[in-house]
Amino acid sequence: MLANKEITPSELTEESISLAKRYASLNCFNVINEEAAIAQSRNLSFDSNNLLSCIPIAHKDLFCIKDLETTCSSKILEGYKPPYTATVVKNLENAGCITIAKTNMDEFAMGSSNETSYFGNVHNPWLKNHVPGGSSGGAAASVASGIVPLATGTDTGGSIRQPAALCNLTGLKPTYGRISRWGMIAFASSLDQAGPIAHTAKDCAIALDAMTGHDSKDSTSLHLGKTTTLETLEKHTSLTLGIVKEFNGQLSAEMELAFQKSIMTYQSLGYKIKEITLPNIKYSVPTYYVIAPAECSSNLSRFDGVRFGFRSKNIQNLEDLYVKSRSEGFGNEVKRRILIGTYVLSAGYYDAYYKKAQQVRRLIAEDFNSAFKECDLILTPTSPGTTFAFDSKGSKDPTELYLEDLFTIAANLAGIPAISVPQAFVNNLPSGHQLIGPHLSESAILQTAHHFQLNSDWHLKSPSMESFL
Ligand code: GLN
Repeated sequence: MLANKEITPSELTEESISLAKRYASLNCFNVINEEAAIAQSRNLSFDSNNLLSCIPIAHKDLFCIKDLETTCSSKILEGYKPPYTATVVKNLENAGCITIAKTNMDEFAMGSSNETSYFGNVHNPWLKNHVPGGSSGGAAASVASGIVPLATGTDTGGSIRQPAALCNLTGLKPTYGRISRWGMIAFASSLDQAGPIAHTAKDCAIALDAMTGHDSKDSTSLHLGKTTTLETLEKHTSLTLGIVKEFNGQLSAEMELAFQKSIMTYQSLGYKIKEITLPNIKYSVPTYYVIAPAECSSNLSRFDGVRFGFRSKNIQNLEDLYVKSRSEGFGNEVKRRILIGTYVLSAGYYDAYYKKAQQVRRLIAEDFNSAFKECDLILTPTSPGTTFAFDSKGSKDPTELYLEDLFTIAANLAGIPAISVPQAFVNNLPSGHQLIGPHLSESAILQTAHHFQLNSDWHLKSPSMESFL
C-alpha cells in the first residue's frame, strides 16, 4: 500500500498506534512511543528500494532506546531511560523502521510464559487468559494481533521460537555473534541473541538482513560481510532433514500428529528425512539451568539501587541500600535465578556444577557437529505443547515451566541458528516446528522454512481479536 501510495507513512504509523490502543487489554506493550513515532513518520518519505521503509516495528523492552523508558519488565528498572540506543534498533531504524512501542516480556527475559513480568500477563491473541509464550511474549502478541508486522525478540533458551510457535508466527534465533548485543540488556551473555518475529520466513529474512552487521562495540560480534538471506530465499535444494532419535515419545498424540504432518510436507517437497542421534541432548535443560543462572547472577549484580532505576526508600546505610533495593526490585523468578547462579559459582560448588555444565555444553555442541555430517538441518517440534492457561504451569514447581524449553535450549548452548515455523493447529491452537542448522546456516534455514510456507497456509491464519475489544 505504501508503494502504491494507497497509504502515507504517517497514516500507517497512526493506524498501528490506534490498533495498539484498541487492543490495550492484550497488555503486550510496556510503553507506546506515540509522539516520537508520529513525528518520525512525518519526516520520513517512502523509499521504494527499501523493503523496511516506514514499517512500524515493536522492540522487546530490553533493547535500550535513548530517552525511552526501558525496564526489562522489572520493577528494578522502573523509570530508567537509557542514554543511548541499541545497535539492533539503530540498524532497523536506518533501514526505515518506525519504533511504535516497547513490548512486555518476562522479567529480564527469564521465563517461557511472560508471567514473570512486573507489568502483568500478556494474553495470547488466539485465546484470552492463555499465555503468548515467553520471554518475548509481548513481541509475539503484538505481531499475531496485527498491530505491527514485525517485532524484535531475544532468545537465550527459546524466547523467540517458543512464543512464535504459540502465536502462529515465524521466529528466528540467529547464530550467536551474528547480531550485535550492544545496548541489549544482558541475561546470559554467552547465550543471548536477538532476532526477528514475523509472520513469514521471508519477513524474517528481510529483518535479519537489516539487523546484522559487525559491531565493534560487541566483542562477540562476528566479522561477516552483509547478510543477504533474502537474495537466496527462493533457492530450494532438496536437503536432508535429521529427526532426533532422543526426542521420540516426548509429545502428546495430537502434537505428534501435527509434527508428522510437517515431516510429510517436507517429504512431498523432496526433502530427505533421516533419523539422527544427539546423545547428550537430554542434559541440555539441566546444563542451561546452571549456565544461564550463573551468567545472570553476574550480569544482574549491576542493579544495586545506585546506578539505574528503582531505589528502596528507608535506607540506613550502603549495605541496606543494596539489599533493600534488590529485594524489593527483583521478582521471585529473577531472585531464584540469582540464588542458583551464585550457588553454582561459589568456591565449593564451582567444579561440581558450573564447570561440569560447561563440559556438557561442549559435548552437546559436538553432538551437533557429528549430526550435521549426516544431515543438513535438524527438524524438531518447537515446544512440547500449545498455549496454556495463566497460572497453570510452574506456579508450584518452576521446573515444569523449564521443560517448555526442551527442544529449543540446545541450539543456544551450541550457538547455532534455529527457526520456528507455524504448522498444523492442535485443538484449534497454533503449534510450530523448528529447523536447526550449523553455524551461519541462516540462508538454508530460511530457504527451507520459506519453501514450507509456499506449500502450506498455517502462517496465513490470524486470530479474530474480538475478545480483546
Ligand atoms: N525459558 C528460558 C528461561 O526461562 C529461556 C528464556 C529466554 O530465551 N530468554 O530462561
